[in-house]
Amino acid sequence: MKRSRWEEARDWFILVIWKPLWEKDWKQEGRKAGEKVRNSDLPVQWKSRKKWILVAGLVICAAFVLFGAYLLLQGGEDKEGVKAADNKNQEQSQEPNQKQDQNQGTGLEEGSDQSEEVNTVPEVTDPRDAAFAVQSGNVPGTFEAGDEKVVYLTFDDGPSRNTERVLEILDRYQVKATFFITGQWPEYKAMIKEAYDRGHTIGLHTYSHDYAAVYSSVDAYFQDLWAAGELVKEQIGYVPCFIRFPGGASNTISANYAQGIMTQLVSLVQEQGFQYYDWNASSGDGGVCTTEELIQNSTSYSQNVIMLLCHDSGAKDNTVEALPAIIEYFQSQGYTFKAIDRESYVVHHGVNN
Ligand SMILES: [Zn+2]
Repeated sequence: MKRSRWEEARDWFILVIWKPLWEKDWKQEGRKAGEKVRNSDLPVQWKSRKKWILVAGLVICAAFVLFGAYLLLQGGEDKEGVKAADNKNQEQSQEPNQKQDQNQGTGLEEGSDQSEEVNTVPEVTDPRDAAFAVQSGNVPGTFEAGDEKVVYLTFDDGPSRNTERVLEILDRYQVKATFFITGQWPEYKAMIKEAYDRGHTIGLHTYSHDYAAVYSSVDAYFQDLWAAGELVKEQIGYVPCFIRFPGGASNTISANYAQGIMTQLVSLVQEQGFQYYDWNASSGDGGVCTTEELIQNSTSYSQNVIMLLCHDSGAKDNTVEALPAIIEYFQSQGYTFKAIDRESYVVHHGVNN
């Protein structure tokens, strides 16, 4: 006779679970150890243990319910954890800096629900930190202009009371630039870090920007250059390899203080791992110009790579006023604005001293 599944299950239960328990009782009742149990005895035992089976069943059910509730609570807590981590990330990304751009390269994806991964991602350091630091024997730059239409906006002499306005305009147009800084107005030195954090490049222009002091001797020049380097290091953690000579490498003023000093400096700076960037386009703001004149001067260039000289100082309000029109013009002409990096095109003037 074919037995139903239910009967098979019941027999399995009796043989595997019930019978051993029952046999134990048997021994306690003084029967012979190992004596076979007749199945007909079972119902009696079953009856005597019915309430215990019921209790055990209830306990097991309660355990399942409690375990289920525990799992649900755990799940909820995990979600809260992810939410908290996401919120933290959002707060960090709202900080006005560019370091979030680098975060994207670490595999930390937005909306990731792997909270453990979020919590264990190491602090991301700016890849520019190591790359842009001055290293002797590693002079940056290329003298090949390439086919891409690029404008390198460069601001000398700052930071100043105008730096913040310049940064706001650059942000508005999503444009990156380069600041060759001085220590002339140390009360604005925090703007060095601000500019760097917003993705702009920081270069050195000398600390004092006092031609008589800077160009009095090779030693005096380097002392002043490294003082600017220390100022930048204090703000962003390293001394950058990008520099611009006050007056450019072609300046003739330095001859008043030390004949031939530029000829020495252009090679000495490169021996230390610096690269100097002159310009092939000028806004004309070194002199006194109206905003209109600055726009006209700046937009008169059409070469592929434009290294545009501008100034960041409290006296150069017109440069700030002209900036939006200059940026709009070059964007309409298909140019991309870039901050100087190690691969950037280098413009060198001829040395006149
Ligand atoms: Zn200058």
